[in-house]
Amino acid sequence: MKKINQLLIATVFAVTPAAAQQAPEIFSYQLPLANVSVLPEMQQNGNPNTLIGATPEILEKYAPGGIIPSAVNAFLIYRYGQLTLIDAGFGAKLFERLQSFGWTADDISVVLLTHLHGDHIGGLLRNGKAAFPNATVYLSKQEYDYWTSGEEMNKLPEGRRSGFENARKALDAYAERIFLFTPAEIDAPEQREVIPGIYGVAAFGHTPGHTMYKVGLGEEQFLIWADLTHATNVQLPHPEVAVTYDVHPEQAVASRKKILAYAAKNACPIAGSHIAFPSVGWVFENKQGGYVFQPSLTPEAVQEAVNEQLKKYPETRLQDIYKNFFQDYFGPGHIIPDAAAAKNYLQQELGEYEETAGAIIEPTGSEGRFYRVDLSVVKENKIPFGLFLEAFIESANDATPPPPAVWVAQWNKIVHILDGMQLHLPGYEADKAHISALLAEGKFTVHHSPAYQERYKPHYRIISKSVFEKKLRKFI
Ligand SMILES: [Zn+2]
Repeated sequence: MKKINQLLIATVFAVTPAAAQQAPEIFSYQLPLANVSVLPEMQQNGNPNTLIGATPEILEKYAPGGIIPSAVNAFLIYRYGQLTLIDAGFGAKLFERLQSFGWTADDISVVLLTHLHGDHIGGLLRNGKAAFPNATVYLSKQEYDYWTSGEEMNKLPEGRRSGFENARKALDAYAERIFLFTPAEIDAPEQREVIPGIYGVAAFGHTPGHTMYKVGLGEEQFLIWADLTHATNVQLPHPEVAVTYDVHPEQAVASRKKILAYAAKNACPIAGSHIAFPSVGWVFENKQGGYVFQPSLTPEAVQEAVNEQLKKYPETRLQDIYKNFFQDYFGPGHIIPDAAAAKNYLQQELGEYEETAGAIIEPTGSEGRFYRVDLSVVKENKIPFGLFLEAFIESANDATPPPPAVWVAQWNKIVHILDGMQLHLPGYEADKAHISALLAEGKFTVHHSPAYQERYKPHYRIISKSVFEKKLRKFI
């Protein structure tokens, strides 16, 4: 029966590509051998009062206005014709999400649990019965032991045992198809394969057996880190900040530090149960010894930015699109060797300035971290030369650019989205190969295409949005 079911799934998948009718809130990430989809139950704002060790200074800097973007997510992995669910959320929107792919709860053959909190196991039961009739359920032995321990439950007063009671109800409903395993440390030479291609990794502390999952290994690995963070914008720059619902906060902090270091070192994509949409991205180190999260670009954001660019600049080629997104992450950093050279270069370019056909000020890429500011603002004395130069140099230090591997992954994602847009840009395939060859050699800067230069005569400087708004906006 199960075999037939899986065959059927494979057929459905082949006919309906994963992204075809899915809800726009669902974000999918394609790996070489698997497709990972985030199934959001809700987006919400986290509560700063639940953070342990977040000083007012930390909150002011990383959660201004008390804003802590958060979500509740489950994950769906399609691999080798098999549908695996990681956690089951509250069960509020889970079944609707599956439906948007054309699947039902019957199609799920494996459920991997990260831990047994209500926002991860709520969807395991429907009307008090097992919601996934054909699924086997896996969780760590440590997690199982904790929630089934009478001693642990009895430590709580009687009115506060519902977490234990709900966990036990869920476990009972799947009793004969539960498998327990002991997850490996994230950097252990021998990883713990739970089902083919998916590995259980110890991330203990939030709960005693809190487990995350690695999809694939080595270059292709993708980490689903579950509840490693609850306030990502605070806990990445400050991994030492815990939450009041960590069962063992100190152990949770140690797990977070270890796994963040691993994710940054390996530049692998990660997803989190409580990271706001799109809930997938990369981690890298900041200059203060903490970490930065860079979310993955979404198809909608890329499409909008590219359509906008093509509307304004119809002669745009692939390398101009590359440049637009590259500038959004790297700013002007890569072209400022020193202040004197920046000044000479700016003076020289002003001497050669011809009227451009572009906008005077426009945001870069899809996020608009920087602006392209046309040199006419200096040429026509709207902005004093010295001030403009100062703003330009200051802009170089105003962003934490991603490491090369993260940028390459983002670019590959952009190309994947562009392929689907069928833009028919002249020389598209050749430009694609050219850029990918440059990236393979570790070269990241690309000039505007000759067609673009000819038509629009771009003469601009990249100024950080915040520097521009602070220092230059008033002149325009
Ligand atoms: Zn949770």
